[in-house]
Amino acid sequence: MKLTAIKGFNDILPVESPKWQYVERVAREIFHLYGYKELRLPILEKTPVFTRSIGEATDIVEKEMYSFPDKNGVSLTMRPEGTAPVVRSFVQNVLYSKNPVSKLYYIGPMFRYERPQKGRYRQFHQIGAELFGAPDPVADAEMMAMVTHFFQATGIDRLSLQINSLGCDECRAKFKAKLIEYFSKDKGALCENCARRLELNPLRILDCKAASCGELKKAAPVILDYLCIDCSDHFSAVKDHLNNLEVTYKVNEQMVRGLDYYTRTTFEVTTDMLGAQNAVAAGGRYDKLCETFGGPKTPAIGFAIGMERLILLLDDNDKYSLKPQVFIAAMGNDARNVSIKILKRLRAEGISSEMEYSIKSLKSQMRRADKSGYSFVLIIGDEELKKNLATLRNMATKEQTELSLENPVDDIVRFIN
Ligand code: ATP
Ligand code: MG
Repeated sequence: MKLTAIKGFNDILPVESPKWQYVERVAREIFHLYGYKELRLPILEKTPVFTRSIGEATDIVEKEMYSFPDKNGVSLTMRPEGTAPVVRSFVQNVLYSKNPVSKLYYIGPMFRYERPQKGRYRQFHQIGAELFGAPDPVADAEMMAMVTHFFQATGIDRLSLQINSLGCDECRAKFKAKLIEYFSKDKGALCENCARRLELNPLRILDCKAASCGELKKAAPVILDYLCIDCSDHFSAVKDHLNNLEVTYKVNEQMVRGLDYYTRTTFEVTTDMLGAQNAVAAGGRYDKLCETFGGPKTPAIGFAIGMERLILLLDDNDKYSLKPQVFIAAMGNDARNVSIKILKRLRAEGISSEMEYSIKSLKSQMRRADKSGYSFVLIIGDEELKKNLATLRNMATKEQTELSLENPVDDIVRFIN
């Protein structure tokens, strides 16, 4: 029986991986420009890292987590998202004592038990960043500017930045009461999940994708009408800073996020090119989360980009891959012995190069070089070898040049650059 991968868990094959490397490279470059440093975290955490922070009555905690007991019966969870582990680490490693402001980013796999479909998988990858210690709205605006900058740098357009504010505990309490009142009138029309969560977490209804809830949602109260003065001022200032930075955005007063820890600013980057899976990035402020983890009161804000969805938006061409440079077609055993030494020197010069391991016809070797995308082929035939000569062929122009095998590497470097 052939073994296959788990449903919703994908292999990223060599034809695809250049895009992944490209996206990671751009992220590292852009985040560096804003002073962020990478934090590499474990994939497994103790389950309460997520249940306590994300919220019990959320999709992730109720039905999407890969949780299981380890051999000692301790409940572990494969991380469904990155923020909670970053905060766990931030508090555990007392990062706040080293610097009043911490800027961290991560890149890696996340796990959610969802129905696999285009843009939605059970193992997926996120690039995320978190900024600790900055309550000021200018931090929110700069973070959204960084996300926008990142997408521009990857060459992806047709994206829309949507922002909203979820207020603080005070605003939220008033808003929740209004929502419960509003949805209770039509409780029968809510989907099963939302009806059950109505009293517990009515905000989730606003995030529900069921058609019946969608209809009811349209005339629901909006959080912006319930913001306290401070939260309202904060939100206005975020918008002013975004305008100042010339970041285009749209206020989406219906947007809430699927996790409970958000306060004040929330945002999403959406696309019209991926059907139902339209969110490419999402984030927001979480000023109270550090305390939940036993840390000091530390305002924070962060976001996560869904890498699979982002990669679906990249054009399908080969500009993302690094090109292999020189293929050596050795004709015969002696030529092959010379070739392996030339390869060693080419690679020492930083030139990506290969040869055929077994003795094959010139035609078959040329075919392999062509298929692998080599720009040049160095042909070393037995007859040429006796004269200490080889032929360098430019695969694009078909031009051929004779080289001496005295010192071929210098000549090759000159030709290919
Ligand atoms: P959605 O509403 O599409 O389920 P979400 O609100 O659950 O998204 P977040 O928790 O905000 O998503 O995660 C941030 C980003 O990670 C999303 O905008 C999306 O691009 C990506 N993402 C989330 N879940 C998945 C998944 N199962 N497969 C692929 N990408 C995902
Ligand atoms: Mg989701």
